[in-house]
Amino acid sequence: MLKLKCPVCGGELNVTEKMAECALGHRFDRAASGYLNLLLSQNKYTKDPGDSRDMVLSRRRFLDAGYYAPLRTALVSKVKEISPETLLDAGAGEGYYTSEFSFMAETIGVDLSKDAVLRASKRDKQGLYCVSSIFDLPVFDNSIDVITSIFAPYSSNEFYRVAKRVVAVIPGEKHLFGLKEMLYEKPYLNDEKGYDLPGFDLVSRDCVDFAINLNSNDEILDLFSMTPYFWRTPRDAVSKLGTLQKLVTPISFRILEYKKR
Ligand SMILES: [Zn+2]
Repeated sequence: MLKLKCPVCGGELNVTEKMAECALGHRFDRAASGYLNLLLSQNKYTKDPGDSRDMVLSRRRFLDAGYYAPLRTALVSKVKEISPETLLDAGAGEGYYTSEFSFMAETIGVDLSKDAVLRASKRDKQGLYCVSSIFDLPVFDNSIDVITSIFAPYSSNEFYRVAKRVVAVIPGEKHLFGLKEMLYEKPYLNDEKGYDLPGFDLVSRDCVDFAINLNSNDEILDLFSMTPYFWRTPRDAVSKLGTLQKLVTPISFRILEYKKR
């Protein structure tokens, strides 16, 4: 079984139904839904770090409507092809992708947002979910066959320390171009620069391209609140979305697989 590392002393955590505890007596509660909160208070910059409850709910509604299902299918085949014994999803969110991986490998989902991890642990009883920073992963060196990193921040040092492979998802050039056209006068294409992972080689690159049709303002706003544009867009541009009832936009992902040298 995959061992977890105590975030205080680095010793091994003994995980029981109610809690996790290391030999030095550092204890972490396990919630009724099964997730572990391994976040130390000095690593919390705000009271509730990570995505807010509203953002988690918007993303969950949007994903559960199936709009990104082609990406999930492509990721499942990628993981199947690698057939790892252990997998860590760094930035697991509410477990939309992670819950599929946990059928194929011993899986840990890590996210900074307690709301997201709570929902993931309710959705998926197979995987283990932890509130933890992806810059201080609660696992031992070289213990993870594959790290998945799906629209999440990443740490090249931590990934190198723990993982043999990394499967990353980044937006393709035209990702959400239809939405960007609504928001900006001159929307830019995304640059498809992959992760900067010293010590790893890029071994495969898959494209997942399709289009989605949104037919209600609620869905359009759910999509918008999942994107980085939510934070960057000036308010008068956002107001253009206020009454919009229909949106067609290309969706474009690149799945990049890196292998440790
Ligand atoms: Zn400890």
